[in-house]
Amino acid sequence: MENLIILGTGAAGLTAAIYAARANLNPLVIDGLQPGGQLTTTTEVENFPGFPEGIDGTELMNRMRAQAERFGARFQFNVVEKAQLSGTPLSVTLDDGQTLETRTLIIATGASAKYIGLPNEQKLIGRGVTSCATCDGAFYKNVPVAVVGGGDTAMEEANFLTRFASVVYLIHRRNEFRASKIMAQRALSNPKIKPIYDTVVEDVLDVSKNEVTGLKLKNVKTGALSDLEVKALFVAIGHQPNTAPFKGQLDMDERGYLITQNTRTNAPGVFAAGDVQDPSYRQAITAAGSGCMAALEAERFLEAQGHG
Ligand code: NAP
Repeated sequence: MENLIILGTGAAGLTAAIYAARANLNPLVIDGLQPGGQLTTTTEVENFPGFPEGIDGTELMNRMRAQAERFGARFQFNVVEKAQLSGTPLSVTLDDGQTLETRTLIIATGASAKYIGLPNEQKLIGRGVTSCATCDGAFYKNVPVAVVGGGDTAMEEANFLTRFASVVYLIHRRNEFRASKIMAQRALSNPKIKPIYDTVVEDVLDVSKNEVTGLKLKNVKTGALSDLEVKALFVAIGHQPNTAPFKGQLDMDERGYLITQNTRTNAPGVFAAGDVQDPSYRQAITAAGSGCMAALEAERFLEAQGHG
């Protein structure tokens, strides 16, 4: 039986792994669907303390991982599919069918990009519809593309895409961005970014050609419909927590975020850290901070059970 299993390798999971490994808990870390988490899909991270010049997101995560490995954390490339979180031992079942037993569990499975839910959207994912500019932006050199959303992610994606695209339409359903001032200003002052306010995407064209050729837009104030020629749609409308394997066993809010108190869930020995339990801050540094808290909580729990 394991002492501690950590699910996820974003900023929360890896920080938990560093602290738990240094405390000699010998944690087993399950990588999850996106090793390194959401920061591996951003470019420069400018607000993580200690890096005044900024640091590449993937580089930051590689460093956290190396730090956890240095103290003996073990990593396994799997995804959790099921969990049994009442009584002892706790157990998790992985995508290869393996079931692992553990005394404590830290859930740091993060959140995944949301899609709009348009009729043709899912069919064209990977064929022009995407949620990751750093992954797919370079495919769209000197052609028009669109970003949907009004938050920091949309601003960041739009700015990044100006490196490649001829023009980046930034489509937002209101006439004011939700993004922080600095990010919004940077986007609006970029001559390649053309904001389109008060507008929603009604559908993606063209499924019959099996690639994105344009968008059907609707002005929400006037109801006017129009077509916009683009080669790609970058969806940046927020994220949803990855909590499906824990439904029915852990307390969640109406959006599926785990409810925690100082990282403790309602199940004894089960802790949660990072975006999976954080609908309001969702920053790398807050994820890392809560990962640290979860590791300390797991350590205290094990000690109280006589396994310290
Ligand atoms: P977000 O702040 O929740 O913004 C989502 C945006 O998408 C909003 O503008 C929202 O419109 C729009 N939206 C939501 N559902 C929609 C739909 N169905 N159709 C059309 N538009 C829709 O999400 P985020 O931008 O991913 O940011 C998440 C968190 O990460 C934030 O805390 C942000 O500060 C942080 N972040 C930070 C950085 C950075 O500091 N470098 C970079 C990226 C993200 P409304 O405004 O009308 O609700």
